[in-house]
Amino acid sequence: MSVRPLQAEVERDSLEVARASYRAISLYSPNRAPCRLDLSDNTNLWGPPPAARWLLGAAADPVITRYPRAYADDLKRAIAQYLNVSAECVVTGCGSDDVLDSAIRAFTEPGQALSHPDPSFAMVEIFARMNGLSPLAIPLDEKYDVDADAFIASGAPVIYLCSPNNPTGTTLTRRSVERIVNNAPGAVILDEAYAEFADGDYLDLLAGSDRLVITRTLSKAFGLAGLRVGYAVSSPALAREIEKSRGPYKVSALAEQAAIAALTEDRGWVVDRIGDARESKARLTQELRNRGLAPIESQANFVLVPLPRADGIAARLREIGVAIRPFPALNGIGDAIRITVGPWPMMEECLAALDGVLS
Ligand code: PMP
Repeated sequence: MSVRPLQAEVERDSLEVARASYRAISLYSPNRAPCRLDLSDNTNLWGPPPAARWLLGAAADPVITRYPRAYADDLKRAIAQYLNVSAECVVTGCGSDDVLDSAIRAFTEPGQALSHPDPSFAMVEIFARMNGLSPLAIPLDEKYDVDADAFIASGAPVIYLCSPNNPTGTTLTRRSVERIVNNAPGAVILDEAYAEFADGDYLDLLAGSDRLVITRTLSKAFGLAGLRVGYAVSSPALAREIEKSRGPYKVSALAEQAAIAALTEDRGWVVDRIGDARESKARLTQELRNRGLAPIESQANFVLVPLPRADGIAARLREIGVAIRPFPALNGIGDAIRITVGPWPMMEECLAALDGVLS
């Protein structure tokens, strides 16, 4: 059998059929090459919750051979119970990435705008472009809060907010969030991927709002990033619209069952690991300060440290087996590195590696 060479001509032809607006988008690809000590992705470094892990090993044949429920109704009920809301208010997805993408698509027409804080979760700008929208970056202020009036004045049919915010780890003030939720011209998507680690959250605002959508995930505190399970909570009417753009079968049967086990049987384990993460974070923050660095006070399971030449530092750390995430030229901050919090021996190893690279 002859093998047809992959020629430049073939690649050019295939570009001609591509969506024109995709030319401005590059593939989101953080450096995720395997690394001995990986502190780059804010996952649960204490491991998976025990009941969920047991269930994955014990999965019976029909779970694998048959389709899951189209909209993961059992999982919706488990999430609803966890948050004390009605199951009609919940939409699940393949990670909260999928839920964010579906929600953005549900509330916009191509050509419109999406406003988001800067810096914030980098995928949002990409989701905006993939859905034919113009992303509008609005800088965080010096206290890492949003300028509520600037967001309202943007007129965007979707306002994206993130609290605790990635990559700063900071939370938005209640005053700003309430002002935006009460006065936004369209939908407000509040990304609470790291809410479990924080002192408070904004779930209570859902009761009085027909335009707020809160997204969350089982990838962080719940330790199930590899299974890809996220969800949104909103009024039932908005949840139905998000579910239309989500489409069926987004959560695999195995992921659904393990997520239900974690939500119903592993909550105590999750709370204990959140306590561990807070303790490690406090120690790590202090150790970084002892070194003359200025880590930003974080309400999440990671710490952002402003540091010049972040790309170079990350590359040198990687050479000695430690992966952290560099953020070059963040608006208002400059270069910084983000370290995921894990068990203390991991933090000690990271600090020793950092000392070596910075000396
Ligand atoms: N939102 C924020 C703020 C995040 O940091 C992440 C993960 N990096 C996500 C959403 C997506 O998480 P997942 O798709 O794993 O639920």
